[in-house]
Amino acid sequence: MQDILEAIAKKIAEGGRNIAFTGAGISTESGIPDFRSQGGIWDQYRPVYFDEFMSSRDARVRYWDQKIAMWDGLEKARPNAGHQALAKLYDMGLLEAIITQNIDGLHQESGIPGDKVIELHGNTRRVRCMTCGETSTVAEAKQRILDGDPAPECHCGGYLKPDTISFGQAMPQKEVEAAARLSSSCDFFLVVGSTLVVHPAAMMPEYARRAGAYLAIVNLSDTPYDNACQALVREKAGPVLQAIADMAEEYR
Ligand code: NAD
Repeated sequence: MQDILEAIAKKIAEGGRNIAFTGAGISTESGIPDFRSQGGIWDQYRPVYFDEFMSSRDARVRYWDQKIAMWDGLEKARPNAGHQALAKLYDMGLLEAIITQNIDGLHQESGIPGDKVIELHGNTRRVRCMTCGETSTVAEAKQRILDGDPAPECHCGGYLKPDTISFGQAMPQKEVEAAARLSSSCDFFLVVGSTLVVHPAAMMPEYARRAGAYLAIVNLSDTPYDNACQALVREKAGPVLQAIADMAEEYR
């Protein structure tokens, strides 16, 4: 395993266009469960689809109920060794950007500038009006819910929704395009903590592969790209990324 980590670190230290792609697995060590592992979020909740949210007040109440329950865990979460290792690579000029499926905002909290974190599925700390598009914080919405309004609405009358992509909701076009551009033009693509099955996010490693990039995967379970990558590490992300960042610092 040491050999594989060294190979990844050497590739990073070459200083080409290095991109990281992260999924829920990078944040489990911060105490946020992923979606598909046993005990993950889908074991606890039935998802509310976007058209249900838009057409039924009962669905909006159920959705906010779930979001507030998840938010209570998320609010306490802090970046872990994995997030910090990626921030260290960024600070050394060895990481151009992060494409993430995560909605927890922990990459930004670890010190990576917001415009270098491409959020494919939105951010749960932000709330958006589905009519006028105005944004506010989830803390404000939570207070209104605690004050007795279980499905808060905007001053314009639109429905307020955490700014994340629900099942059946359109993907954010600007972010998807930016992610595809970065993936298609990188030299090194590091996947961390994603099953790589949710589309179009899961296309990004394919774009990188077609561009001839070195593909490395750090994930506890199988992915459809395991046979197509140059380096596969089936260990917890935090210690692995920390070791890689430390080695890359030596090699650069
Ligand atoms: P997923 O739940 O489908 O898969 C997570 C993967 O990470 C699994 O393969 C698991 O084996 C692996 N993993 C778990 N802990 C790990 C660790 N410590 N080190 C290395 N690997 C680990 O996640 P996904 O593919 O990102 O799912 C996509 C959806 O889940 C996205 O839509 C995302 O928005 C959402 N999601 C986000 C968060 C978050 O923001 N933290 C949390 C849960 C789900």
